[in-house]
This record gives sequence, C-alpha cells and structure tokens, in this order.
Amino acid sequence: MDNKRIKNLKKNFKDIYKKNCSYVFEAPGRVNLIGEHTDYNGGFVLPIAIDRSILIAAKPNNENILRLHSLDFNNTITCNLDKIKYDSKNGWANYPLGVAKILQDKGYILKGADLMFEGTIPRGSGLSSSAAIEVVSCIAYEEISKLKIDKKQIPVICQKAENDFIGVKCGIMDQFVITNAKKNSALFLDCRNLKYENITFSDEDVSIVIVDTKLERKLVNSAYNERRQQCEDGVKILKRYIKGIKLLRDVKVADFEKYKSKLPLIVRKRCEHVIYENQRVLDAVRYLKTKNINDFGKLMNESHDSLKNLYEVSCKQLDTLVYSARKVKGVLGSRMTGAGFGGCTVTLVKNESINGLVIKMTEKYISKYNINPNFYISQAENGARKI
Ligand code: ADP
Ligand code: MG
Repeated sequence: MDNKRIKNLKKNFKDIYKKNCSYVFEAPGRVNLIGEHTDYNGGFVLPIAIDRSILIAAKPNNENILRLHSLDFNNTITCNLDKIKYDSKNGWANYPLGVAKILQDKGYILKGADLMFEGTIPRGSGLSSSAAIEVVSCIAYEEISKLKIDKKQIPVICQKAENDFIGVKCGIMDQFVITNAKKNSALFLDCRNLKYENITFSDEDVSIVIVDTKLERKLVNSAYNERRQQCEDGVKILKRYIKGIKLLRDVKVADFEKYKSKLPLIVRKRCEHVIYENQRVLDAVRYLKTKNINDFGKLMNESHDSLKNLYEVSCKQLDTLVYSARKVKGVLGSRMTGAGFGGCTVTLVKNESINGLVIKMTEKYISKYNINPNFYISQAENGARKI
C-alpha cells in the first residue's frame, strides 16, 4: 500500500473534519482475466484484484448522521441515518449511501460517522470503481458500528446496493472478488453457487497490463440485455434435447456440438461463446495450477476472438489494442475484458517486454484514433481490508 496516499488522506481528514480519523479502509478495483459473459449463465469467471483502490478514513461522530467527503469530487454530502434515499443530487455519495440503506433494510443498526473517500481506480473504465466504493463502505460501516456481517454477505449486500439503490443490473463477480481476492492469486468463482478458490497466480517474470480505450460505452446496456435474452432463448431450445439443463452452464461442449444445428444462427453463436468460454476458464485454472502460463495466454486470445466473432461485443478500438499487443514479442495473450464496446483490454506480458508493449500500443492507438490510451500495470492484489 502506498503510504503517501494514506498520509495525505489522514491529513485531509484532519483539515476538513478538525479531528484525527480512527480508521482507514481500502478496497481494490478488479480485472477479469478470462470468463466473459459467463456470470449470468451460471458459469465461471477468473478475476484478480488490481493495485488501484479506493480508501476511506473514518471516525464515529456520535450524531445520527453520515458525513461523506470525497477528495476526488471535492464535496461533502450529509445525510440523516433515518432518511437515506437515492438522490441524483448526491452523485457519487449514492454508492456509500446505498450500502448503508441496504444494511439498514437487513436490520443492521448504523452509527453516525464522518468518512473521507479517495481513489485511484479510473472511474467508468470497467475496472469497477463502483463495486470498490461499495465494498470499502460496507467494511467501514461494519467496523464503525461494530456490526457482525457474515463475510459471504458483503458482496451480496453491495451488489444489492448497486442493483436496487443505484439501479445498475450488475452480476456479483466484481463485489465478490473485491471482497475475497488474495495477493498473488486469481479468484476462480462459480457464479451459480458462489463457491470459490484463490488460485496462485504469481510469476515474477510476467505482469498484467490493462489498457483503457477511453471510449464512452453507449451500446453496453442494450447489447447486454439482448445477449442475456439470446442465451435464455438458447437454453429454451436446447432443453428439448438435453435433459436437466437450466442455464448454459449446464450444457457440455459435446452436447452442444450434437444439438447446435437446432439453434438459429445468432443464438447458436452466442451459446457457442458461453459454453466454450466456460470450458476455457476450467482449462485456464488447470494451466495456472501446472504453471503453464503460455497456454494460459493462448486461452486469453481465444476468449477475445470468441467475444469478437461469436458474441459480437468487441469494437474496433478494442481489436486495435488487442492485435497491436499480440504483435509484441513477450506477449502471452491479450483480450478485451468486461462487457465490451469499450472499457479495457487485459494483456499478459513478460516484464522485459512491458516498455515495448506500451510504446507499440500507444503508437497504434494514436495513429488510428488520435487518443492516448491509459495503461495500468498490476500484479494480483489483496481484497478489501482495514489498514
Ligand atoms: P466503473 O465501475 O466501471 O468504474 P461506474 O460508472 O460503475 O464505473 O462507477 C463509477 C462511479 O463510482 C463514479 O461515477 C462515482 O460515482 C463512483 N466512484 C468511483 N470512484 C470514486 C471515488 N474515488 N470517489 C467517489 N466516488 C467514486
Ligand atoms: Mg461499475
């Protein structure tokens, strides 16, 4: 953890609230290595926490009030604990307020507190700054109000805040990995039953390079809903031929191959992506366990090609970044990550090739789109915690 950030946060807390803070909490952003558009099909994902995070400094205030200050937005929102409701005027503060409200709805009694937020996760880039601010708020309230929240409930509460209070239909992966990630591990999650395993992912010679397209993601919502529908349509048809399936997660590759001709073309393509992508996550986990990082990288490439050609959620900017990365010696794999139509790519690269990679990708992206892409280089980091 960057001590300068904590020092600065504590100093600002003192300047603004005229007292010392009692606690500091941190929650990281995340990136998914493989397993895209599998979550709502009850399938597998393999994300890591990254070394960008949101911090909270906090102190109980013995008032029945939450005072929320953001250093990044430079404003303070004050809310009576008995009157928490969504208000667009509250902007960013709706995230911590939403978590407080869901906790209250579940019967937890919150105490008044002064909180200060600071973050280094780029906002709206698909690295899940929203889930980070939810989770860090949740663990802060837990400590301040001396609640006993089952750790399994934290991601569920935070997802509910984003779904019901903010109004964004996200899955549970982000909140889950941000809560449960371990340093030098990827988190293998079964989205059907939330069983998970922290799989060692540490190779001193390779790094994860995340590149932001800086695109506004306008198409995401409608395309996302359409894809979900197409997956459901696929299950409906396949059910007639394969007994006992409820979600695409239940369909084995061999069964799909046997019956795929029964599906209309578009639905077939969507199902093919999801069913093979689930298998790729299982293979990826196996490769991590056997330290076969080269084949892991190849699966990342296959994942991208499938998202582009079958699921059709990539875009030319993502493809440009991915293809320019793959041309660099030392790159093991590169793919889009997140829902698509913008957001970020994730690339696995030998450390000695990072500089060359950054130069190459920047050159290409500037020459095609006149945009300087942002780079985030990370290892697999810890999940949310009190500092
Ligand atoms: P993403 O989760 O992909 O980063 P979202 O649009 O889901 O993007 O969430 C971004 C929102 O989360 C921001 O608009 C802001 O309201 C809130 N947020 C993120 N980081 C911070 C921060 N450091 N301080 C305050 N609010 C933040
Ligand atoms: Mg988000």
